[in-house]
Order: sequence, then structure tokens, then C-alpha cells
Amino acid sequence: MRYRKLGRTGVDVGIVGLGAEHLEFASREVVTSVVDEALDGGVNYIDLFMASPGVRDNFGVVLKNKRHQVMIAGHLGAVLENGQCCKSRDKARCEKYFDDLLIRLQTDYLDTLMLHYVDDPDNYSKVFDSAGLLAVAVRLKEEGKARFIGMSGHNVQMALQAVNSGYIDVLMFPVNPAFDTLPGDLTAEALKNKESYNYVGTTTSKSVTEREALYHDCAVHNVGIVAMKPYAAGILFQPGNPSSIVLTPVQCLSYALSRPGVCTVVPGCRTAAEMKAALAFLKATDEEKDYSAIQRNPMWKLKGSCMYCNHCLPCPVNIDIGATTRLADAVGYGGSDNLSREYEVLSVKASACTECGVCVERCPFDVDVIANISRAVAVFEK
Ligand code: SF4
Ligand code: SF4
Repeated sequence: MRYRKLGRTGVDVGIVGLGAEHLEFASREVVTSVVDEALDGGVNYIDLFMASPGVRDNFGVVLKNKRHQVMIAGHLGAVLENGQCCKSRDKARCEKYFDDLLIRLQTDYLDTLMLHYVDDPDNYSKVFDSAGLLAVAVRLKEEGKARFIGMSGHNVQMALQAVNSGYIDVLMFPVNPAFDTLPGDLTAEALKNKESYNYVGTTTSKSVTEREALYHDCAVHNVGIVAMKPYAAGILFQPGNPSSIVLTPVQCLSYALSRPGVCTVVPGCRTAAEMKAALAFLKATDEEKDYSAIQRNPMWKLKGSCMYCNHCLPCPVNIDIGATTRLADAVGYGGSDNLSREYEVLSVKASACTECGVCVERCPFDVDVIANISRAVAVFEK
């Protein structure tokens, strides 16, 4: 493993970390195999944002006696509603889920306490105003239950504001070559009708300027960036992806780690093999790391693609929107028969959708969720 200082925390973090989001409903055996692979490879930073009890319990068991080997990032503001993970700004409720995380992880502290998913001015004030969630995080830190305070989000303007506020030590932010071509404000109404965006190297792109400013300000304020979504939810691996450019995990990690301010990358790994593929970055040749292929296509068209992150939940009828869309997309990319079997085990099917639209409002990636859910019905239920 190679290490970088995680900004002003001063802690050495392995440049390859682990994001646990795809292990939310995995068995303990799978979680064990992924974590073992990670720790054997020198990973020492794990992000666990989900509020589901099962995954918290599994990590608690797997990391028992290994707690000292890893920094754990947990999120203040991630709660459950009807069994689905979502965000809350209710301080008492958030703290209840924080306490639950410590108990289930069998630890008495978190290393990074992330203020969860701050993507718009209203959420920003509910978190950073004097009576907001930040006050809870600061108290928990004073009580020794958290070492550092961070923030997670997808919106450049909110991230810039937080970084420049001086309140956060760590920023968790999506970094990949596709996102770096998208507008800073992914939900901006004004950008709704644009079909495609300039490639990262195009100096006239407003988004590039904004994102470069964010990376720059993180470096100036010594706020360590934890790069999430380095693979854009795996879309960059698919030969049929809208950008027409296919990258490997090594190339994606290489790109993210080359951005200023990025200290560690936390790919979401479903299996030990996926963890191994990420760790392969450490032994890759310069040729294998070379991501210059992205320059061959100056126009990426990933706007509106689902990242399977489930930030749009809770769904009133309990559809697992991320999992449902991922399966429908996989069929489009030429997936196998297993996809129908995976769809069968989803407890609520896409046809239960009432088209209420709350998910569309919550999605930070401007995805037409209802269209995706309808596509899943057409693919799996007709
Ligand atoms: S629709 Fe949006 S919020 Fe929901 S899983 Fe997809 S990208 Fe995430
Ligand atoms: S539009 Fe459909 S998928 Fe989205 S929240 Fe409403 S019921 Fe759920």
C-alpha cells in the first residue's frame, strides 16, 4: 500500500480504501471476504454510511480485534425509514442512529464523522447553522466519540462552502472522469436540457473550472478528499456506455488519485474479486494506469445515468430504486439470465410504482427515475 496524509487530520491513509455501500445486504461471509482482502492489501480506510442494522452488525463482527487497523467513517444524518436508508436533519434521530452504529460496530468511536449528504442550501443551513447537525458532531467529537468531522455530498457549490467554512477536515466527494465533465450543480434547472458536456480537458467548461476550484480549495485548506464513485457505478466498464469509452478499475483509480487534494479512493466493492481489482492499482504499470483514452472522445453523455446510490429513498411503496435500475441497466448492457433471478428476489417490484415523483426530486444526478422504473417493468414483468 502507498499512503497519503488525510489532509489536516495528519493521519496516513492508504490510497485505496473501501466503500461499503454495495455490501448493505450482503451476507456476513461476503463482507468477511471483502474486508479480509482489503486489510490484507493494506486498506486502512472504510466508509460505512448505511443505517441498515445488518451491514453494521456484519462490519462489527468482521472488524472485531481489527479495529485498530482501520479508520472508519460513519455518517451523521443517515437513518432508516420503513427499512430504507435516507437522510434526516432531526438531531435526536440522527444521534440515535449514530449511537446504534457504535454499538453494532462494537467500538466507542468513529474516525471520521461525516455530515451526510449535503447538496443544497436548505440542507446546508440545517447542518451548518448554529443549531444544526454540526453542533451534534462537534459535541460527539468533544466527547471522544469521533476524531474528525467531514462532509459528504455531490454538489460543488455546497462542498466549496463547507471546505471554506473551516468546519470540516475531510470531504467525501464523487471523482471520476465522467463526473468531472458534468456541471457543478447537477440538479440545476438551467442545465436540464443539455445533452452532453465538455471533456475535462476543455478549458472553457464551467463545470471543470468549478470542480478544479473545489480540488484546489481542498488542497489550500488542507481538507482531505475521500473520492467516492470512482467507477461512476461501473458504467465506465460497460462497452455500451453512452460515452463510448471503456476504462478499467485501475485507470479509474489512477484518474481519481491524480486530482489535487484526493487522499484516498473508496470504490464500492461487492466481492473480494472486485476489491482485488482495485488493489491491482498498486502494482499496475504506467501503461495500465494511463487514462488518456478519455481524450479520444471529448463529449461524454452520462448525465442522467443512475449511480445506484439510493439517495432517492425512501420510496413510499418500498421499491429499492438503485437495485431495480441496476438490473434493468445490466440487461441493456447485455447481462445474463441471472438478472431475472436477482429481480425475482427484490421484495417490491417496479410495477408497484405510483409515479409519485418524490425520488426524482431527491436524486442528485438528475435521473429520470420513473422512466427507469417503467423500463424495469417492461424488461422483467412483461
Ligand atoms: S435514481 Fe438517483 S438517487 Fe436514485 S439510485 Fe439512481 S442515481 Fe442514486
Ligand atoms: S415515483 Fe415510484 S419509485 Fe419513485 S418514489 Fe414514487 S413510487 Fe417510488
